[in-house]
Amino acid sequence: MIADSKYRREIVSTGKALHQRGYIAACDGNLSIRLDDKRVLVTPTGMSKGAMRPADLVIVDMSGRRLKGRRDVTSEIGMHLLIYRMRPDVRGIVHAHPWTATGFAAAGLALDQPLVCEVVIGLGQIPLAPYGTPGTPELARTLEPLIPEYDAILMANHGVVTYGIDLHSAYMKMETVEHFAQIALVTNMLGKQQLLDSSDLEKLVKARRSYSGVNSAAPMPVHSSHGNGNNSKVAARRPSSVMNRESETVFRES
Ligand SMILES: [Zn+2]
Repeated sequence: MIADSKYRREIVSTGKALHQRGYIAACDGNLSIRLDDKRVLVTPTGMSKGAMRPADLVIVDMSGRRLKGRRDVTSEIGMHLLIYRMRPDVRGIVHAHPWTATGFAAAGLALDQPLVCEVVIGLGQIPLAPYGTPGTPELARTLEPLIPEYDAILMANHGVVTYGIDLHSAYMKMETVEHFAQIALVTNMLGKQQLLDSSDLEKLVKARRSYSGVNSAAPMPVHSSHGNGNNSKVAARRPSSVMNRESETVFRES
């Protein structure tokens, strides 16, 4: 129970941070933490995530059935449970609508260009999932092919979802996605994008391995050709555990 209360406070403070940074408005967004292999602590529907108290949170089982809490669980619980089922390494999830990244998602543009080295090392690219109606299995289905490979996904005409080894890691990825979206927007306004070339990308592949201490030659899931948007092709399937170790290490060290 002590652990539960710590996680409740963590979700409340992360919800405040999302709200203060303008990543969510009104009752938008949802957050969760995997408590153990049978229970998930998650935000309720219909309230501001910037004004929650620990008692407002809900505990559900892995089929979404409420085990504890007075409030109704977020309508996006299906998305959270799908990610937890597909990625045993994930223990925290953040879904929000940060305005620049969501602008890209509403324009039908993936954040898939190698413009910034740290983003390439940490996330590779941020693919765009097709539109799915919120709160329905359709939304989860659009994300499903991307979940094993990526830790951050743009949701067309909707927002962003990020996840990691804990809630803090998921939140940091949300900040990175929005920051990178702002940089990509500025390059669009300047009318010039100088993409990292393939030799630069090869060096980043090596840097990624040295960050993590992983020896496998994990392919970098980016392309260096011109043209933004909808290119979510990846070079090869990488083990999630490898990718995750890489990403987490980068965020600790940068
Ligand atoms: Zn949403």
